[in-house]
Amino acid sequence: MQFDISQRAQRLTSSAIREILKVTEDPSVISFAGGIPSPQTFPVGLMKEACARILDFAPHAALQYAPTEGYTPLREWIAERHGVTADRVLITTGSQQALDLLAKVLIDPGSRILVENPTYLGALQAFSLFEPILTPIECDGEGIVPGALTEETILGARFVYTMPNFQNPTGRRLPVSRRRQLVAAMKAANIVVIEDDPYGELDYSGEPLPTLLSMNPDGVVYLGSFSKIIAPGLRVGYAIAPMPLIKKLVQTKQASDLHTSGFAQRMVYEVLDTGFLDAHLSQIRALYMAQRGAMLASLASHCALSMSWNAPEGGMFLWARVPDSVDAVRLLEKSLAHENGSRVAFVPGAPFYAGKVDAHTLRLSFVTVPPARIEEGVAQLASTLAMLL
Ligand code: PMP
Repeated sequence: MQFDISQRAQRLTSSAIREILKVTEDPSVISFAGGIPSPQTFPVGLMKEACARILDFAPHAALQYAPTEGYTPLREWIAERHGVTADRVLITTGSQQALDLLAKVLIDPGSRILVENPTYLGALQAFSLFEPILTPIECDGEGIVPGALTEETILGARFVYTMPNFQNPTGRRLPVSRRRQLVAAMKAANIVVIEDDPYGELDYSGEPLPTLLSMNPDGVVYLGSFSKIIAPGLRVGYAIAPMPLIKKLVQTKQASDLHTSGFAQRMVYEVLDTGFLDAHLSQIRALYMAQRGAMLASLASHCALSMSWNAPEGGMFLWARVPDSVDAVRLLEKSLAHENGSRVAFVPGAPFYAGKVDAHTLRLSFVTVPPARIEEGVAQLASTLAMLL
């Protein structure tokens, strides 16, 4: 049978890089590619207890249909943490769903939207289905360059999408002064800011910076997630938005999935209610900091002459660059083709760009590979790179 696939769905394609990276399912591959948290951090014991409590004390409510807005105690917990009222919090099925809902609510075909360059690939995918015109904003090692926010560039845009903390893919963090400039420029131009912040709690500097939401609660939609601090398999995230937008997002979500799993929301709330989060976050930060240290030390000893890289103050990724003569996709292919020696995976930077592509960049995750294998993987990557130089 021939299927008449919609033009919208026809625009979706599988990325060539995703195909290449399929081999990372083989455990013998040392993969710095995954954007996934370390399973060591999942609070399995607490979740078993939480699950038993839910089924003992509220089995019917937990297994029944529930309001689209989300489980009230969880919304209240989030609202308190961010200093907003609970009616501005919508629980979503991962923050990825919030990106999809925002695209549906804010983008018409041809709407102009502003994105960092490079930016999160999953956001580009969610937005692109609704046919916006993407305007990439110039970024440097600290994120969006305030000078690039000229009237000509931003005027008429529906929103700007930004990750001020430990951006995916680059690990960059936007300094406070730039946060203020960004918020002020968008406020003056009456443009909504979408602040995507799944990595904000993974701050190794000890000095968290104020959210854009706190700088202009009426002009910012803040997206949070429990994926990186509890477990991504629960699929629980949230959006904090001004009331007129919340209403539209709720209507859109209703059409999409009625509500996020009430059982999963209660699991998150029960685990949070034990008060474990602060101690848990300290453990995650200590683990990831050690892994970041291992990757930085390995890069310094094996790649100092052939690569440059940054040292992010949080999150899961660092951003590296190989010499102009080497294409990062070619390096990945070569790196996965080894017959003797470890095969090493990473994500080439190209697909993250909405504008001018730097084909010599790559994203390295330091959180899923244990330190001893990080060293082995980086050494192998250095020797593969040397073969291409
Ligand atoms: N935003 C960013 C920047 C991400 O990196 C991710 C996950 N990789 C998401 C959103 C989606 O996360 P989730 O749906 O698990 O909350």
